[in-house]
Amino acid sequence: MKILVTGGAGFIGSAVVRHLIGATDAEVVNLDKLTYAGNLESLADAAESERYAFEQADICDAAVLDRIFAQHRPDAVMHLAAESHVDRSIDGPGDFIQTNLVGTYELLQASRRYLDAEASTADDFRFLHVSTDEVFGDLADTGAFFTETTSYAPSSPYAATKAGSDHLARAWGRTFGLPVLVTNCSNNYGPYQFPEKLIPLMILNALAGKPLPVYGDGSQVRDWLYVEDHARALWTVLSEGSVGETYNIGGHNERRNLDVVHAICRTLEEAGEAPAGGGRFEDLITFVTDRPGHDTRYAIDAGKIERELGWTPTETFETGLASTVRWYLDNRGWWQRVLDGSYRLERIGVKAGEA
Ligand code: NAD
Repeated sequence: MKILVTGGAGFIGSAVVRHLIGATDAEVVNLDKLTYAGNLESLADAAESERYAFEQADICDAAVLDRIFAQHRPDAVMHLAAESHVDRSIDGPGDFIQTNLVGTYELLQASRRYLDAEASTADDFRFLHVSTDEVFGDLADTGAFFTETTSYAPSSPYAATKAGSDHLARAWGRTFGLPVLVTNCSNNYGPYQFPEKLIPLMILNALAGKPLPVYGDGSQVRDWLYVEDHARALWTVLSEGSVGETYNIGGHNERRNLDVVHAICRTLEEAGEAPAGGGRFEDLITFVTDRPGHDTRYAIDAGKIERELGWTPTETFETGLASTVRWYLDNRGWWQRVLDGSYRLERIGVKAGEA
């Protein structure tokens, strides 16, 4: 099976690529534009495999998509490329409209053109559209969970563009017969996450002795899933899910943001670390003005994927967080190159190689 993974140089996409190369026989074509969030250093080992190929490309570019489909002739698409950071979508929504909506549209259309030209592939082809639980908006304080039939009510520009892309994917399945599956997953954390997201930001700020900025009073609840559990779930849905279905993916790990930050502080202390400049990690916690439109609570009911496909997460929040903190302590080179910008030099090498 040959799989075209979009966004494979990002946080979750790189975990998917590592999983496909390390735990399956699939061939992988990683299609990634290498925005600020794309980092080929997250794929150093996987990239050595003969089953791995890389295409630096924009999913909004129809002609390039046609060339890539015709050249690689994939059996499936796992679509993860997106602008993914809520704060950036508030400061500048344009890139989110472009990549998440227009890009998804172009990828769906390119898949249709490819299948029209390759009739023999159409029966077995799969298009897995990877999305988020943020499309559902927020939940009352306790008790309720997002299911596959929860109404959409996105709050942020990011969530609205992901919601729109989900609708496009399902419409292309219903109207044009494209074999689409959709997943909606809760907040991910783990190795190789770009340090603008909550958990790596807190780990790295804490080590540097910088303030740990918590939005509002930190009472917002998120449902956390270890990224490698998500990658395994996506492979399970692609290989065993039913066309036309949606699967929610989550870890049943609801935590208040403030408790997550306290847990990071404790885990760092247990690992024998101290903030640069001395003092205690918890003293660095600083409450800042809340994000506009901030959702209060997300919580996923992942019962369907468990019942129908037998997937369950292997990590609890405690074990996953310990592994994540350990990874950031052991891989300072990776994140130091992200912080000083030198990870971007790799893309210049790619461009130069193409020229
Ligand atoms: P990320 O920002 O880490 O990675 C996105 C990747 O997409 C980057 O490698 C980037 O270079 C690439 N990309 C961006 N625009 C592109 C374009 N126009 N053409 C080609 N490539 C482009 O994101 P992530 O956190 O890994 O999220 C991956 C997917 O999973 C997204 O669709 C996101 O909505 C979804 N998701 C994320 C989470 C989460 O907690 N991070 C949870 C549920 C779902």
